Parts: sequence; structure tokens; C-alpha cells
Amino acid sequence: MLNVTVWYEYTQESGYLKRELVRPDISEEDFQNFSRYTEENCRKIHEVYPDGLMAPLIRTLEEDPEIHVTYTTLYDPCFGLPDELLEHTDVLVWWAHISHDAVPDELARKVTERIYKGMGFVALHSAHKSKPFMQVLGASGTLRWREKDFCRIWNTAPSHPIAQGLPEYIELEEEEMYGEVFDIPKPDDVVFMSWYRGGELFRSGCTWNRGYGKIFYFQPGHETSPSYHNPLVRKIICNAIRWAAPSMWRQSLDCPNVVESPESRHRQ
Ligand code: ZN
Repeated sequence: MLNVTVWYEYTQESGYLKRELVRPDISEEDFQNFSRYTEENCRKIHEVYPDGLMAPLIRTLEEDPEIHVTYTTLYDPCFGLPDELLEHTDVLVWWAHISHDAVPDELARKVTERIYKGMGFVALHSAHKSKPFMQVLGASGTLRWREKDFCRIWNTAPSHPIAQGLPEYIELEEEEMYGEVFDIPKPDDVVFMSWYRGGELFRSGCTWNRGYGKIFYFQPGHETSPSYHNPLVRKIICNAIRWAAPSMWRQSLDCPNVVESPESRHRQ
């Protein structure tokens, strides 16, 4: 089984903003404005995703007999990632937006170290500013941003495993605009490139290797856009999870007798 952990920030969906879950230097006025925005956003999220933003993806993963999925949030014990869960995670999926700073530096460091040792990491949408993403890539993750727009996501690497079964492009009637310049290290592959009606371009599906681990960033997933209801968007995420699986798991599928891990080879 491939152990997949979906870590979801949940702050906006909870509708209740705690002061300790946003930037520590935020003013009282900004905090009150942010709180009202969170309450309003919560209502909008549930209009689009009555069962929660992550529900369509979780349901899809649960249908895969080779995947064991654990759903966890920032509000769960140990900020959703106790050591034992992290240690047994093969691929970590991360969605976060307004509470990046509430994730302890120590936890971000542990996630980064797990990636170096072979854990796959799939960063979704606004996770471009999450601590683990910025730390493991050594970049700010900043980008251009605008309200929702029509989006065409071009498949720019059709032979890549993450693009398998995908058409030439997919279209989303509305998705938040993320545009260049996207401050990331040069990707190993740009698997998807998005074009918006406003004219912007964005490297919306990128891969990297760090240590023994594989990383994929994928842009769709704004909390009030229905992108995760789109089966092709979910297919890309599922393809990415399988691509990012540690090599030991893939070997065990091809040849059940091969149990040597990259780590054990390295120690010899
Ligand atoms: Zn967004």
C-alpha cells in the first residue's frame, strides 16, 4: 500500500480565525478584517464544496485499492503531523493558504528531511508560500496574483508520468489567476503551463528532485473555485502522487522480492 497523507490547513473552512494562526505582527484592524473575510469565505467554500474542499480528492484516493489515505489538518494534534504519521507517509499532499506561519519551523524542517529521505511531496495551489515548499526548494515562492479568470492548462510534457491520460489541454471556467514571475528554482520539468484570459502565463505544474524525494507543484485548487470537482484535475494530482511515490514502493510493485531502500544502498 502507498501511504498518502493529505494535510489541509482548514482555517478558512472553519470560518473562525484564531490570532495565533495568522502572522504574529498583524495589526488589530487587519486581524478583524481578516476574520470577516474568513467568515465570508467559509460560506462560499461550502457552497462550492458542501463536504469540504478536500472531499472530492479524498474520495478519489479512497477508491484506489493501492492507496491508504490519511486526512489531517492544522487543527489536529501535533499540527496534524505527529512524528509517527510523518514517518509512515510515502507521499504528503499539502494545501494551505492563510496560516502558513502557524506551522512550526520544527515541523517544516521535519517535512523537508523526510523529502530528502524519499517522501514524495505534492504542493497544491497556495502551498507555494508554505514553509515546507519554500524550505525544500530554497526559494520565496512568490508570484503574481489576481481574482478568478478562465484558465486553459496546457499539457507541456505529454510523455511525463504525471501527464498520462491527459488531453492536450484542460479548461477551467474559473480559477484564481497565478502568474509569472513565479520565484522557484528552475524545474526539472514543466508538465503544465496555464494561460488566462487576461493574458498571463504561469508554470502551473512543475517537478523537482531533492535528495531521494520528488516534488510536484500544481496550481489549481482555489477554495471558492470548483477545480477539485473536475476529474482531470484530480487525475493529475493522483498521477503526481504515484509519480512521487518513493522508489522502494514502485520496486515492490514490479518485483515483490526487492526490498532494498535507497537509504540502505547509500549506507553501504
Ligand atoms: Zn486561492
